[in-house]
Amino acid sequence: MSDKEKKVSLRETVSLYLRMLRLMLKKSRKMVLSVIFSTLFDAGFVYVPIWLSARIISALSDHAPVPEIRFLVILTLSVTAAGTFAGIALRRLKRVYYDEGTYLETIRIWQEKLLSADFSVADDPKTQALLSELRQYTNGGGYGFIRSLESFVKMLRAFVTMLGGIVLTVSLFRSRVPEGSALRFLNHPLSALSVILLFAAFAVVSQTITGWAEKYWYENADEHSAANRLFGHFLYLGISSPAEADLRLYKQIAFSNRFASDKTSTFCSQGPFAMKARGRVGISLAAAAALSVLLSGLIAAYVGLKALGGAFGIGLVTQYAAAAVKLFSGLAEGGGIIGESRANAWFLKKNFEFLDLPNPMYQGSLTIEKRRDRNYEIEFRNVSFRYPGSDAYALRNVNFSFRIGKRLAIVGENGSGKTTFIKLLARLYDPTEGEILLNGIDIRKYDYREYLSVFSVVFQDFCLPAFRLGETVGSGSGYDRKRVLDALKKAGFSERLSELPNGLDTFITKEYDASGVEFSGGESQKIAIARSVYRDAPFMILDEPTAALDPKAEAEVYSKFDDIAGDRTTVFISHRLSSCRFCDEIAVFSDGKVVQQGPHEALLRDTEGPYAKLWNAQAQWYV
Ligand code: ADP
Repeated sequence: MSDKEKKVSLRETVSLYLRMLRLMLKKSRKMVLSVIFSTLFDAGFVYVPIWLSARIISALSDHAPVPEIRFLVILTLSVTAAGTFAGIALRRLKRVYYDEGTYLETIRIWQEKLLSADFSVADDPKTQALLSELRQYTNGGGYGFIRSLESFVKMLRAFVTMLGGIVLTVSLFRSRVPEGSALRFLNHPLSALSVILLFAAFAVVSQTITGWAEKYWYENADEHSAANRLFGHFLYLGISSPAEADLRLYKQIAFSNRFASDKTSTFCSQGPFAMKARGRVGISLAAAAALSVLLSGLIAAYVGLKALGGAFGIGLVTQYAAAAVKLFSGLAEGGGIIGESRANAWFLKKNFEFLDLPNPMYQGSLTIEKRRDRNYEIEFRNVSFRYPGSDAYALRNVNFSFRIGKRLAIVGENGSGKTTFIKLLARLYDPTEGEILLNGIDIRKYDYREYLSVFSVVFQDFCLPAFRLGETVGSGSGYDRKRVLDALKKAGFSERLSELPNGLDTFITKEYDASGVEFSGGESQKIAIARSVYRDAPFMILDEPTAALDPKAEAEVYSKFDDIAGDRTTVFISHRLSSCRFCDEIAVFSDGKVVQQGPHEALLRDTEGPYAKLWNAQAQWYV
């Protein structure tokens, strides 16, 4: 992405930032308010001890009465102590809610968007590519929500710092050197003006060179993020247990470590970032720091001369000198922040591009009649489907109706359209042509969540989160224990359950809890089946449900199939024909079409038919 394309106008920057703030406040008020309060307090409070100490020094030099001095000292000490404590407390809140929160909220924002997006949008490679880009930018350097909130906070800090600085230095220019003094030229408006102009010029120059150095990070965000990803991948590879055996066997540790051991790789001592830190970036930042020291000297000279001329006493010297230095830092930071915010706006824009992806699917509102007899009838009427962006039909003129309470098997070679058929049935996609009807009504007209409640699906690549076994099967902490046990029994898991010391409270995997159990592929599949039994939906869909089971366990699942399916209409996808025999009906898919349909025996009788051919092809492995 060229830098030109990354430019965002000032107006758009402001509107993007306002939208970001609204979103962040909506996500977590505590996160935003904790950082605002802590920053404002820190920026404003620094001036309090400056002002109070000046009062003490003035009182001392004016030979004020001891009780007055004592009072000032006690006041300064107690206010400074109270303010320090308040600052610490606020910073602690900021650490809890803001420092820990921004990354988490960013992930949550993406997650909510992805989960509420139409499946076709979420599954679209373009969406996935955009999200992966956002993740890289965020992980690489917080570009996006994290940095923009930070910029906003810096802006507030600069504003308060400038305001405090101005309040405490205004009288510096107003106070006059007595007429008799040789330094009375300092009273001339030009002298004050030249100091102010010098001050402003220094601030602009300092801001420009800091901005120059900072801009470097934004310009190189692509390289930085990409390198961060590679670095993370290869570095963690060496400590990820699934890779351990392969890395040892093929002696790939050194290879995977080369990113960390090669000095010239991106983040190492001879890498491009280090070189630039020593070059342009380092020199710019050093120059900005030098300018700030130089200016402090000039200000001290101006303040000192005015005091020498008799314009004010020693107490105010410390106040003016300290406040002017702060004011300068506020000015320099405030100036730099505009450039930084604009650079970051492009990343914000990308994030909103993702959040604004439209959901094109029609959302119906019809409710689904809750039938105790589970008498739901589904019909595919002349359905054809092409995946978005694809010219080829994945399904072609499919006509099909489910007989209630029956077991249907869908068989066919890889790529014949079986999974696509299920995706349309679960309305993850809408047909390109034709319609799917539930009890005579187009499924698009139903409320989507209600429509989904008709199905329980065990996907081939199911996912079991690292929760407790009972919570996983019962989909939540308030599950019905008896029904969970029953579902596990139906799925053939009872024996294994009786061996688990923590029973239903056993954690799945060790990721969440060290006492957790790493279940085998077959055991996990049984748990996934139990979860779908517990859901008790009238339609049950099992996608290759026994793929991970050994032949004995597979036979066990089939023998329990009537228990598992109960009176539900069941759809069973498999490319292992032997596992479909017990189904009432078998539909054979080929090239996106249903080419044969009927019970096993009838299909076999057509010896030249596709089913018989597939059957014989598979049978020869067992002869
Ligand atoms: P099966 O489940 O029988 O193996 P699928 O339903 O997965 O077959 O695939 C049917 C056809 O659709 C195949 O040609 C496959 O390449 C294509 N296909 C599957 N998923 C997608 C997708 N997300 N985008 C584009 N084409 C796809």
